[in-house]
Amino acid sequence: MKFCSNCGNPVKHGPVPNEDRPRYFCNHCNTIHYENPNMIVGCLPRWENKVLLCKRSIEPRHGKWTLPAGFLEIGESVQAGAVRETLEEVNAEVEIVRLFSIYNLPKWGQVYLMFLADLSNLNFSAGKETTEARLFKKEEIPWDEIAFGAVTFTLKQYFENRDNVQTTAAFIGERR
Ligand code: ZN
Repeated sequence: MKFCSNCGNPVKHGPVPNEDRPRYFCNHCNTIHYENPNMIVGCLPRWENKVLLCKRSIEPRHGKWTLPAGFLEIGESVQAGAVRETLEEVNAEVEIVRLFSIYNLPKWGQVYLMFLADLSNLNFSAGKETTEARLFKKEEIPWDEIAFGAVTFTLKQYFENRDNVQTTAAFIGERR
C-alpha cells in the first residue's frame, strides 16, 4: 500500500500507538489501514461417486485442475459466495450440503472455506476462467495436475472420508 484510500496522501508503515504490530497509517487524515486476510469460498460439487473439477484458463496455475472457488464479496454470505463461484466457473447449479473444509494460508493472508455440495443436474459446462469442466472418479483425479494445496487437501479428505462426510466436523488444514 502506497497511498491513503481515504485522502490520497502517501502512507507510512510502522509502529502505531496501542497496536501490537506495525501498520500502514496516514499522517494526514490519521487513518490506520488494517490489512486482514481474504476469504476464498468454493464448492466440492458431487454427483454419485464423482466430483466436478474445472481446468483453469487463467494464471496462476493456468491449465491445472481446481474446484470452483473465488474471493468472497462484501455483502455476501460464505454459502452464497460458494454457490455464485460455482455458477460462474462451471455453470453448475448446486445445493450446499455442509461446510466441508477450512484451509489456512497464514503467510499469504488467505483462508479457504470449501462446501460439500450436490449437483442439481448435469447441465454444467466451462464458464468464466475455465476451459473444461468434468466429473472425476477417485481413481481418475489428476493429483499431479491440481492447481492449489487447498484443493488437494479438500479432495483427499473427501475420498478418504466420504462414507461419513455427512456427519463429521469440517476438516482443517494449513500450508506452512
Ligand atoms: Zn489519509
